Amino acid sequence: MTHCSSYHRKALFHQLCAEKMDVLVIGGGITGAGIALDAATRGLKIGLVEMQDFSAGTSSRSTKLIHGGLRYLKQLELKMVADVGNERAIVYENGPHVTTPEWMMLPFHRGGTFGPLTTNIGLRLYDSLARVKKAERRVMLSREEALQKEPLLKRDGLKGAGYYVEYKTDDARLTIEVIKKAVQKGARAVNYAKVTDFIYHANGSVSGVVVTDLVTNETYRLFAKKIINATGPWVDELRQMDGSNRGKTLHVTKGVHLVFSKRVFPLRQAIYFDAPDGRMIFAIPRAYKTYVGTTDTTYDGDLAHPTTTVEDRDYLLRAIRYMFPSLSLTAADVESSWAGLRPLIASKDGTKRGEISRKDERFVSTSNLISIAGGKLTGYRKMAEEVVDLVVNQIKKEDHILYSVSETKHLPISGGDVGGSKGFQTYMTEKVEEGKAFDLSEDEAHHLVSTYGSNVDTLFQIIQQRKEEAQKEQIDPVLFGQLIYGLEYEFVYTPADFFIRRIGALFFDIDRVKKQMTRVTDYMAKALEWTDEQKDSYSAQLIQAVQEAEIEPNGYV
Ligand code: FAD
Repeated sequence: MTHCSSYHRKALFHQLCAEKMDVLVIGGGITGAGIALDAATRGLKIGLVEMQDFSAGTSSRSTKLIHGGLRYLKQLELKMVADVGNERAIVYENGPHVTTPEWMMLPFHRGGTFGPLTTNIGLRLYDSLARVKKAERRVMLSREEALQKEPLLKRDGLKGAGYYVEYKTDDARLTIEVIKKAVQKGARAVNYAKVTDFIYHANGSVSGVVVTDLVTNETYRLFAKKIINATGPWVDELRQMDGSNRGKTLHVTKGVHLVFSKRVFPLRQAIYFDAPDGRMIFAIPRAYKTYVGTTDTTYDGDLAHPTTTVEDRDYLLRAIRYMFPSLSLTAADVESSWAGLRPLIASKDGTKRGEISRKDERFVSTSNLISIAGGKLTGYRKMAEEVVDLVVNQIKKEDHILYSVSETKHLPISGGDVGGSKGFQTYMTEKVEEGKAFDLSEDEAHHLVSTYGSNVDTLFQIIQQRKEEAQKEQIDPVLFGQLIYGLEYEFVYTPADFFIRRIGALFFDIDRVKKQMTRVTDYMAKALEWTDEQKDSYSAQLIQAVQEAEIEPNGYV
């Protein structure tokens, strides 16, 4: 068993309590994960607690792109474009199995936001600022070339398109791979562990937290020199608990994505297009599906359960009909969906949209609670480096202990030991061949290598060794192998952890979830020795997630 095993929860809590840590991170989204990894590589004793599953907040609900920062060009934030472009290359290099280049088309129509000249100048400037690789530099397409690449595009008024590269990712898998690497480097991380209170020294500085294990309801007191609040949309709740929610506060907005089968939305080419109201929307092909998003509406509901409403769905359907008029998609064509919350930072004295920043920001309270919010998946590594720099500088001043500089720039994340971006293709070819020797089809082997990268050997072995058990449980052997791997190496505790965040099936293969959920839940109940009450509750949680993803499953006539 590893320290990422769900069979080890109790031991993990005891280890977290046993000694005073250097740093405790609250929040297991990409921000907390990145901080844990950076701190662990510098030799800091680090713990991370997450109240839901890892990445169950915003970090599994994004557009799933490692952006090149093109959008910052519009606001002339040139340094930002350069920094983001640089980070994108690093994220790709350190985890090519979770990050894939994807050519994106930016069509321009008569009267739209962009024209050929502005697009050409913008993309050229972007290539140079972001130091985009030669093979990935922008190309300008004529109307005919654009239509050849994507015949579904609106023809009326089409003048041409810009063509540039974005990087696709799986946000939840990126997060778990970063956490796994942090654990490998000595961090202790645990999910379903909710911080309910802070503990303070007599001088008012924060010295620890009260944590409840939401599986057993046991409560623990954890102590650390530094406490970091990396709770995304919940940042203000924790600041409130600390009595420091003053000055700038969060403004939360909701973004929704819809998923369609390629049968009804056979998109060949990723498109970044103007909606009728002038907002920019992505339509992205992914395996056998096409997904489209996002909306941007102010949100004040339950932070843990943002859902797609009929209005959100209809807004995106209107945008799709506008840009892809030959399709005439309807609500009944929507297979799945997800909704995420943007933790944007509003200015001190108001929340007017123009004043809301999409950049990350840090708040250090008088109790020295360090809060960080507003970052992106793309910039997670750099943001973590800066936060840990702040922490080690404080420790240097207070305790005269020196820690090294960040080592994450050239550090593959878990699964990323595949020879970098250049070596990944060769690695893939070799491993697919090996997978065939384990009786896997080419597609299955390819899927496993692109999901698990250099951890795929463990998957192959599990699938081979536990074939008979899979048969007995009547679960597809590959899915069963993924489940065992999830339980032993990826902190899977509930069926929703597995189906939503470890294998992405709720969004991109919802029928498979519906077919396999009962058997998977039955197996997990035995393996993790759940009570009947737990089984009912985890099962209901997944059923609710399926219903929410389908928006209104009984509403189509
Ligand atoms: P979260 O992922 O929300 O993590 C915070 C965690 O803290 C949660 O898991 C929560 O359960 C936990 N927590 C809260 N309270 C407690 C407590 N008391 N105790 C313990 N744990 C607690 N960025 C990109 O780079 N590319 C994109 O394509 C992109 N698209 C986006 C699309 C949408 C619709 C949205 C909403 C965002 C998008 N982003 C994108 C931004 C990016 O997804 C987020 O900035 C990022 O995921 C935030 O991560 P986080 O770790 O800060 O927050």
